Amino acid sequence: MKKRLVLLGAPGSGKGTQAEMITRHFGIPVTSPGAILRREKDLGTPLGLETAEITQHGGLVPDATIVKLIEDWLRLHGAHGFVFDGFPRTAPQAESLNEILARHRTPLDLAIWLDVSEQTVADRIAGRLQCRSCGFVTSVTSGNFSERPVCPYCEGPLVRRNDDDASVLQTRLKEYHAKTEPLAKFYDKSGALHRIDGNRDRETVFKDISRLIESK
Ligand code: AMP
Repeated sequence: MKKRLVLLGAPGSGKGTQAEMITRHFGIPVTSPGAILRREKDLGTPLGLETAEITQHGGLVPDATIVKLIEDWLRLHGAHGFVFDGFPRTAPQAESLNEILARHRTPLDLAIWLDVSEQTVADRIAGRLQCRSCGFVTSVTSGNFSERPVCPYCEGPLVRRNDDDASVLQTRLKEYHAKTEPLAKFYDKSGALHRIDGNRDRETVFKDISRLIESK
């Protein structure tokens, strides 16, 4: 089974949703720098407060900060593989990950790219709700929610992310096109890249991802 995975794609491409499905189904541990930073901010830690300004406006946090988060996480949880949701996002991050994995002689198995249209991104971001407690992602249209929607898994509050507004999304997309999209070539060269049509419903996308993970 393939168990060292990175999930790449535009904001709203379904990385978080698929990462969560992978971890539930295959038990591969997942982490997301974006989720870590949101939690740190909610807790009011120095890291959360230092990075809040950047994340709120849709910019990218400095590579060194993100790579350190990933290295720390790998040291504690990396023994059984990983799914990275939203890492790497820049060429220096991808190179750092390669160096870390080479040091441990554990090459990356898959770089899964979720391809989505601009319309899909706009629709998903406009309707996205996320559980503040466990990170579960859903949409305003997918449930019969009362005025205070709650998470079906942990009953935490479902809220809109503060970087999910239309103008911040433009900055996030700019960063994605300029800094993340070039990584497709990087992972294509190493043979790890697999592109999946992420415009479809979550179960259909997950079937394709599962096939890749189970492939020899
Ligand atoms: P996400 O939850 O993946 O959409 O990330 C939310 C925000 O966290 C991003 O818009 C960035 O500000 C920051 N962030 C998450 N992952 C990274 C990364 N790999 N490199 C730099 N900044 C990141």
